[in-house]
Amino acid sequence: MKADLLITGISQLVTAKGSWAKHGSAMRELHVMERAAIAIVNNRIVWTGKERDWNGEALALVDVGNRAVVPGLIDPHTHAVWAGDRLADFDARTSGETYEAILAAGGGIRRTIRATSAATKDELVLLAEVRIHALLRSGATTIEVKSGYGFTPALEIAMLEVIEALAAGTPARLLPTLLIHIPPVNTADRTGYITQICTELIPEVARRKLATAVDIFVEKEAWQVEEATLVLQSAKQYDLATKLHTEQFQRVGGLELGVRMGALSVDHFEACGAEQLAMLAASSTIATILPGVSLHLGIPAAPGRQLIDAGAAVAVGTDLNPGSSPLFSTATALALAVRLNGLTAQEALVAGTVNAACALGLADAGRLEVGLQADFLVLEGSDWRELVYTLGTNPVREVWIRGERL
Ligand SMILES: [Zn+2]
Repeated sequence: MKADLLITGISQLVTAKGSWAKHGSAMRELHVMERAAIAIVNNRIVWTGKERDWNGEALALVDVGNRAVVPGLIDPHTHAVWAGDRLADFDARTSGETYEAILAAGGGIRRTIRATSAATKDELVLLAEVRIHALLRSGATTIEVKSGYGFTPALEIAMLEVIEALAAGTPARLLPTLLIHIPPVNTADRTGYITQICTELIPEVARRKLATAVDIFVEKEAWQVEEATLVLQSAKQYDLATKLHTEQFQRVGGLELGVRMGALSVDHFEACGAEQLAMLAASSTIATILPGVSLHLGIPAAPGRQLIDAGAAVAVGTDLNPGSSPLFSTATALALAVRLNGLTAQEALVAGTVNAACALGLADAGRLEVGLQADFLVLEGSDWRELVYTLGTNPVREVWIRGERL
């Protein structure tokens, strides 16, 4: 065999196998090969095995110096495009103000909507580039980015155009999602807005291929199940995948809706109940948990341990956003899932690679297998578990995308 590049000096080559989502105890089935090597041709993996078993020729050799290699991480849930900040809200909250008082004073998500709507597309691209770079440096080679801070169809389209521009300027693979975030303040406008979303916004997004999925925030203070049903039905009609933010603060039936509609993922779960865990475990919908929110807002963590014990397929994301999760490291999201959600190191890596890929509908990412694009991380240490053990410094030494070191 002839390779363009042979990567050697790998203390441990770690990956899950098979493109399907790993449910329950299968989330602990990681394959760890010691003293391994990877051969790459045309940006793709053509061989992996024990270094001593390689008997081909390679045009170039890179020795990573006895370090662990894991697949590039997949961040399946971010809101990386926004303008302004939420520092005044943070100050108010840490000084004891309630969420309602902050909202009444003009803070909260509406502050971000105002600032984002007022920014130009170029300004938004510049602001978001830095965040995408931070996620990339933390190991995320594939990143989902949502719209959702626009408040009209035109502003949501503009946000998706910003994500398109970001995707063109980064080596990371960006997956754009249209997020239907919060309803108009005036309840009389809700029905009209839903109609506009279903008859104008979603068809245009699908026609221009500006998003691969539609997400909706189903919560007591946001959209109701009946409204979300219309939006998700419209998404399906236009061949877009579906996702939901739900059961974050209250049990509102969004989880049941997601399972019923065959959503790719249902995200959050902090307020989910035992019977909901069983329903999710029996479905193909991925449970995406977001520990950065629990840490930042001090709300109960999603029941990651119980979800896995019930047989669900769990993914983990940063939920990077200015209000509830200013977490700029995908590796740290996995480290937090171990501490706050009760995942083991093995489960966290599966949640941040193959299961996160499934939460985005991707069968060709999150693993180190022959035929796949060579997206991988060289860690600082020789034991891969340092990826989820380390806090406060970056455990990722090198990020490789399509067989090239960044
Ligand atoms: Zn979110």
